[in-house]
Amino acid sequence: MAMRGIDSSEAEDIGRRVMARFDRPWLLGTGEEQTYLFATPAVAIVELDAMGASQSELLGILFRTLSASRIQSGVALYNETLDREVHDQLRMEEALERCIRQEGMEGFALHYQPIVNAVTGKWCGLEALCRWNAPWNGAVPPDTFIPVVERMGLIHPLSHWVTNLAVAQCKEWGLDTLEDFVLNINVSPIQMRDPLMVERVREVLERYSYPSTKLALEITEGTEFRFDAQEEAVIEGLQRLGVAVVLDDFGTGYSTFGRLRKLPVEILKTERTMIENIENDSYNQYLLQVVVELAHAANIKVVAEGVETQREQEVLADKGVDFMQGFLFSKPLTPGELSGKLHMFTA
Ligand code: C2E
Ligand code: CA
Repeated sequence: MAMRGIDSSEAEDIGRRVMARFDRPWLLGTGEEQTYLFATPAVAIVELDAMGASQSELLGILFRTLSASRIQSGVALYNETLDREVHDQLRMEEALERCIRQEGMEGFALHYQPIVNAVTGKWCGLEALCRWNAPWNGAVPPDTFIPVVERMGLIHPLSHWVTNLAVAQCKEWGLDTLEDFVLNINVSPIQMRDPLMVERVREVLERYSYPSTKLALEITEGTEFRFDAQEEAVIEGLQRLGVAVVLDDFGTGYSTFGRLRKLPVEILKTERTMIENIENDSYNQYLLQVVVELAHAANIKVVAEGVETQREQEVLADKGVDFMQGFLFSKPLTPGELSGKLHMFTA
């Protein structure tokens, strides 16, 4: 709608009130015919005076500002920065859709970062990390493209590709025959609510005759920092299959230590911030020691992630961490780089 004589803050206020009307479902019809309508509105505000855009430009701007509203789940007020961000976002969505759906995962690759036994220093696992080279020639970090893939509903085909390729490559390298090898794959929270998740994993293992005990799936807790019944069912199903479950990004910020014994996982991975500056921070050292001791008491092993210095490694080993991962040992490697270093698993 076009409105005269109001400023942007008044328009935002109207927009917010419109959105608030959709907070609850609308009841339609009467008697037996009653039904609820759930609708999610998008509200875009564009100040026409300030712009001097042509009609067709204006349509594009409106479309992109509406997309911003959808992405933010709130009223979007046009400005050039927002417009550029949405433009980039839409370009990324379009390219991801094409690469995943039509072009056979064109532009995607998997890198592998070694996980090291903290006591022996031997390589004993790999974490598969997804990479995407956008068609405009840029490496987009997974922290940027994975949330977009999730929002677009494309995480299942992407994960299917990641799991198949990682399992196939580890099989080809013969790593599944090593006694203590484990391949770690990251799983999105959306997959943990998928009733077919366990079946999908079983299928891949069967396809490549890959032993379930050599696979671990890294999961993160939802926003409320607990697992719901559906997620717990998936965790149980995976464990019944013999696949280990790793709680990723375990931090002291939100985790209550009392929960440790109830965590339905075999391994937890501490987030990088937990070990930052650990060599000089006696409080954090003590905290880590408590986490390790409580985890061990609950039969959970601990992986420290993001180990960058020798000194960090020494402190972590001293505190009883079981496994380590980080640039000190190796950055994530391309399959070509890794195939030249397979001796590290047996050295
Ligand atoms: P993450 O699971 O926490 O992965 C660890 C990240 O830390 C990786 O970033 C890795 O490159 C980086 N890292 C490793 N060692 C060090 C170190 O010593 N210092 C520092 N500063 N960083 C280190 P990356 O590869 O950019 O991945 C980012 C995130 O994207 C991952 O975080 C993971 O949550 C997600 N991701 C990557 N691949 C996949 C995938 O296939 N599926 C899903 N669902 N998520 C993925
Ligand atoms: Ca991870």
